[in-house]
Amino acid sequence: MSYSFEFFPARNSAGQLALETASKQLQVWQPGFVSMTYGAGGSSQDVSYAACKNLLKQGYATASHLTCVGADKDTVTKAAQSFVELGVDHFVALRGDSPDGPYQPHPQGYAYANDLVAGLRQWFKGTISVAAYPEVHPQAQSLATDVGFLKQKLDAGADQMITQYCYDTDAILRFAEQLQKAGIQQRLIVGVMPIHDLAAVKRFSAACGASVPKAIEEQFSPYSQTADLHRVAVDIAVEQCQTLADNGIADIHFYTLNRSELTASVLANLEQAKAPLARSA
Ligand code: FAD
Repeated sequence: MSYSFEFFPARNSAGQLALETASKQLQVWQPGFVSMTYGAGGSSQDVSYAACKNLLKQGYATASHLTCVGADKDTVTKAAQSFVELGVDHFVALRGDSPDGPYQPHPQGYAYANDLVAGLRQWFKGTISVAAYPEVHPQAQSLATDVGFLKQKLDAGADQMITQYCYDTDAILRFAEQLQKAGIQQRLIVGVMPIHDLAAVKRFSAACGASVPKAIEEQFSPYSQTADLHRVAVDIAVEQCQTLADNGIADIHFYTLNRSELTASVLANLEQAKAPLARSA
C-alpha cells in the first residue's frame, strides 16, 4: 500500500504554524507525495505557491492542485509554469468551483478539467492526477455521465485519479467496479479523511456531495471526550483502509486538514495491525 497527504495553504499565523507542524510531524511517514490545494482567486493562489515552496524545501515530492475556474487559458498556463519552475512535477488538475453561484466557464478559459488536462499535456511531462467522485459529483447528471467525463480526463493525458473522501466504503468498491466496466485502468487513489469533528465534517460533506452514513455517526454518539472521539475516528479510518486493501485498493490519500494527530494514529495502527503498507508510491 502507498499513501500521500493533502494540505491546504494557511490563511493566518496560527494556520501557518499548524501547517508547518503537521507537515514536519508527518514527514516520518515518508509519503509517496504530498499535495497542496489551490484556491480560485489571485491572493489565495499566491499562498498556495508559497506553501508548495515550503513543502519542496522540506524534501517532499510535492503535487500542486491547479484549478482553471475564473481564468483564461494563458493565465492558467503561466501559473502552472511557475509551479514547474519551483520544482513541482505533479499537478492535481481540477475545474474548481465558481466562488459565487453556479459554475460558469471563463469565456477564454478551460471549461472542464478534461480541457485543462489536455492543455497541460501539450507541454507538461510530469504526473497529472484528476478528481474522482465515488458518490458522484454534485453537479453530474448521473454516475454514468460522471464516469464518462472522468474517462475523458484520463484519455486527455491524466495518469491517475484521487477520489473525494467517502465514508461509505461499499460505495467506493462499487465505484471501482464501475471504473473497470468503463475500461478505466489508471491508478485509483482513494481519499480518506479521518473525522476530526463530526459536526464540521457533516456540514462540509453536505456541500460537496459526500454522505456521512448513520452507522458512522452512531459510532461517535456515546462519546464526548476528545480522547474517545479521536479513538473512534482512528478506528473508522483504519477499518476503511483495511477493507480497501483487502479489496485490492492500495493507494490512500489522507486529507490531513493540516493536522497530524489523526493521520499519524491511523498509520501507526495500520502498521501495528501489520497491514501491507509500504512507504512510497
Ligand atoms: P470536472 O471533472 O470538470 O467535472 C465537473 C462537473 O462537470 C462534473 O459534474 C462532471 O460530471 C461534469 N463534466 C466534466 N466534464 C464535462 C464536460 N466536458 N462537459 C460537460 N460536463 C462535464 N477545489 C479547489 O478549488 N481547489 C482544490 O485544490 C481542490 N482539490 C480537490 C482535490 C480532490 C482530490 C477533489 C476530489 C476535489 C478537489 N476540489 C478542489 C474540488 C473540485 O474543484 C470540485 O469538486 C469541482 O466542482 C469539480 O472539479 P473537477 O476537476 O472534478 O471537475
